[in-house]
Amino acid sequence: MFNSLSDRLTATFKNLRGKGKLSEADIDGTAREIRRALLDADVAVPVVREFISRIKTRAMGAEVSGALNPGQQVVKIVNEELVNILGGQTRELQFAKQPPTIIMLAGLQGAGKTTLAGKLAFHLKSKGHAPLLVACDLQRPNAVRQLQVGGERAGVPVYAPHPGVSSEAEAPTGDPVAVAREGVSTAREKLHDVVIIDTAGRLGVDAELMQQAADIKAAVGAHETLFVIDAMIGQDAVNTAQAFNEGVNFTGVVLTKLDGDARGGAALSVASVTGKPVMYASTGEGLKDFEVFHPDRMARRILD
Ligand code: GDP
Repeated sequence: MFNSLSDRLTATFKNLRGKGKLSEADIDGTAREIRRALLDADVAVPVVREFISRIKTRAMGAEVSGALNPGQQVVKIVNEELVNILGGQTRELQFAKQPPTIIMLAGLQGAGKTTLAGKLAFHLKSKGHAPLLVACDLQRPNAVRQLQVGGERAGVPVYAPHPGVSSEAEAPTGDPVAVAREGVSTAREKLHDVVIIDTAGRLGVDAELMQQAADIKAAVGAHETLFVIDAMIGQDAVNTAQAFNEGVNFTGVVLTKLDGDARGGAALSVASVTGKPVMYASTGEGLKDFEVFHPDRMARRILD
């Protein structure tokens, strides 16, 4: 991830090295290079436009400070703006005053929700919480079973009244909204302080799916709704994220498959177009391939 973007930006900044003062032409040239690098990394066009405009305005108006030469000053500005579009501050889960805290996962099929549910449960358990996983993806054959396997690996129980099936042909049946409600009641009875609800996804954004997710959210009063998105989907990320933002008004984003060779555009676009922070990153199929997302560290990784 980001290797190519990172190399391109580093090369651009190298050209500024040794310059005593930046001319308007230097700034224009640099902005053009950054723009191309971002577009080639699949960052959404409106995000790039806004980003470049801010960089130019700030670079033109930058006071030459004693400590930094003009080239370093541009790098500093780009770094700060990258942190901004990645959501600014690190944002961790906000726990409900009255447990259980209810976290719902939403996103397209294949985004990595079920895998993430196990990882998030494991992460929270390692922080001293007692999570319960709830299997509300009754659409995809095998999803319940997959969550049960993830739960076993994480050492976290799974509420799944409908048997998990392993055949690709047959999906479990039942009402996901009712399952979500029962899951939360079970968590209350058994004193779990966090509930993680896995929901169904479709291959494309779909009104019925969105309604189902919104119904689950309303029925249980989810405190956090995490939109899970595969970083490999490139330019489609923006439309998908906007549709889910309108449909379920999510509170945070989880980027998955950051271990792949995606060009990184999704990561840089989603927080910016939705105004919602990226909270976690998934970096593989293992239980521990999971990290809290720090915008400043990610920006540094891109610019190093
Ligand atoms: P869901 O349909 O959203 O529940 O998606 P799944 O959790 O079933 O994930 C879809 C596929 O992506 C599975 O084969 C997962 O093993 C894989 N997967 C999920 N997260 C990651 C990740 O961060 N990196 C990689 N390489 N694969 C992942």
